[in-house]
Amino acid sequence: MLDLSRARDRMVKVHVGRRGIRNREILQAMREVPREDFVDPGFEEFAYEDGPLPIADGQTISQPYIVALMIEMADVKAGDHVLEVGTGSGYAAAVMSRIVEHVYTIERHPGLAKSAKQRFEKLGYRNIEVRTGDGTKGWPEAAPFDAIVVAASGPGAPLALQEQLDVGGVLVVPVGDDPDLQRLLKVTRTGASTYSEEDYGGVRFVPLIGEQGWPEGDKLAEADRPLRHPPPVSLPDMIARAAEPLPDFDHPTFGELFDRFADRRVVLLGEASHGTSEFYKARAAITRRLVERHGFTIVAVEADWPDAAAIDRYVRRRQPQAGAIAPFQRFPTWMWRNTDFAAFVEWMRHHNEKLEPSGQAGFYGLDIYNMSGSIAAVLDYLDRVDPQAAKVARERYGCLTPWQNEPSTYGRAVLTAGYQKCEKAVLEQCRDLLARQLEYARQDGVDFLDASQNARLIAAAERYYRIMYYGGAESWNLRDTHMFDTLEHLLDAGGPNSKAIVWAHNSHIGDARYTEMGVVRDELNIGQLCRQRFGDEAALIGLGTHSGTVAAASDWDGEMEVKQVRASHADSYERLCHDSRVPRFLLDLRRDDALRERLLERRLERFIGVIYRPETELRSHYADVSLPRQFDAFVWFDKTAAVMPLGPEHAGTGVPDTYPFGL
Ligand code: SAM
Repeated sequence: MLDLSRARDRMVKVHVGRRGIRNREILQAMREVPREDFVDPGFEEFAYEDGPLPIADGQTISQPYIVALMIEMADVKAGDHVLEVGTGSGYAAAVMSRIVEHVYTIERHPGLAKSAKQRFEKLGYRNIEVRTGDGTKGWPEAAPFDAIVVAASGPGAPLALQEQLDVGGVLVVPVGDDPDLQRLLKVTRTGASTYSEEDYGGVRFVPLIGEQGWPEGDKLAEADRPLRHPPPVSLPDMIARAAEPLPDFDHPTFGELFDRFADRRVVLLGEASHGTSEFYKARAAITRRLVERHGFTIVAVEADWPDAAAIDRYVRRRQPQAGAIAPFQRFPTWMWRNTDFAAFVEWMRHHNEKLEPSGQAGFYGLDIYNMSGSIAAVLDYLDRVDPQAAKVARERYGCLTPWQNEPSTYGRAVLTAGYQKCEKAVLEQCRDLLARQLEYARQDGVDFLDASQNARLIAAAERYYRIMYYGGAESWNLRDTHMFDTLEHLLDAGGPNSKAIVWAHNSHIGDARYTEMGVVRDELNIGQLCRQRFGDEAALIGLGTHSGTVAAASDWDGEMEVKQVRASHADSYERLCHDSRVPRFLLDLRRDDALRERLLERRLERFIGVIYRPETELRSHYADVSLPRQFDAFVWFDKTAAVMPLGPEHAGTGVPDTYPFGL
């Protein structure tokens, strides 16, 4: 069911308020008047769309914004007496009646006048008088008026109407002989016989037919008019038409649908939660295709670098690092220790088996959190290649030792207890290591990339944990900038033809400039940085769902639970996709201009991370975004299921014993 009162609020906020109408009385009146009561039966669901709609006798109910603009131009106030010419549905008169003392409205079509009158009666709006007749002659008995609003366009501002204005009164009228474009005029009576005129720009109205308007049957006035309206198509229907249904994940045509992105340097694949099986399966299927057929060799994900490095060794059949701790032990373990991801890792290992190391696909982590894993990896590396340098590094990283297990307390300690900042030491260590690239990399280029990236991570993480204490956008921005820098280093290391696929949450991948996070909180993300750096060579693809289950915790560090995902919010993009009734699809947001145009205007989008709080869903998980600006394409699964975390029961059942998680 369409929630009309919510749609009305949204119309006022988005179509009217955001276009610059600030007058509170007008906005409030539009929030009060039920526009759905003024459209013809069957059109209620379109009542709050951003355009005019057809009514009886070939006439129109004007676009909400135009109604607001004309009333604002007329400068109406409490106590005013206002005349409207062109009652039509009666909607504009109803809105004005909520502000002024009395509205007189004239309509030439008796049928329209009659139904408008019935609507006013039904709604109890008693300060409106309706008359059938030629409004160009005005309503002399009730004159003078504080304002006159003409809702149809004539050859000029009718003299009778100008004369019925009080001094200081305003006449708002569209004029001009082009059926497709007229000018909106504001005529102010400045004295007994003086008037001033302002032009408010181009508009398109039905013709004003009458003694001081266009003659009835006039070719110019009526040939191309009234406006012809194609039957409006609802947004969900437009989505259904543009949607490309998705087959099973294992069907070859699933991947083929994404061939359109094969020529990009970076393809970023999002997810609307960190615990949904379909999102992993879809990203795996797309990645398989891009790697197998289109030369992508970098798979970089929202996971910690040292943990992902263990997977990389596994998929390339390299020895695990000496003394390495099993990866992905930190909260939230299900994000990578799940059956869908395990299957993807097996596929990568199998794919790489027959390839030379230079042609293999590598698996990398872009994230910043596992500082202690990175420290261990740098020390292990230096122990092997340069024991002397390892000694110095141990001393430098020693500064961070007290915080390694609980780095989130580091910032607070530095600030409140006057502990030493470790910034200088970790930066020096990173610089030293990078300065010796030529010397070290001669021994093993892959290991050097790993060590240098770990050293970079430690330097970024030191800063991250230090500033995290203050909260705010800075730590988020540092994290996403680090992720982007890591991606760039990977692309550089892979050479000019290298191509990468990124897996991260929609909040990292959808261009932040078109979401609340960018607009309100000044946050950026990896998707935005990729667009700014790679332009059209980056494809940003979001994934979404309507309902089902999700693996998530209730609090940070809490147990994983399988939670029910609430049906998507009535004002969300997700609800539009759900209403399309296509269960799973790819929506290319660059293909259908008309659809893109209609989707541009901001709506809610749901973001579920590792924590899901359905009780406070609207506040905790929804944000305002413009979907077609945020993403290049959207992948939809109407009903989704939680990931299955890896447990002991999976040992030997499809997950080989050698699997790194078992180490
Ligand atoms: N304000 C209306 C509403 O909110 O639904 C929209 C009005 S519609 C754009 C213009 C109306 O002006 C039509 O219903 C048309 O029949 C009427 N009209 C045209 N010439 C007229 C005239 N000389 N006198 C009165 N009404 C006229």
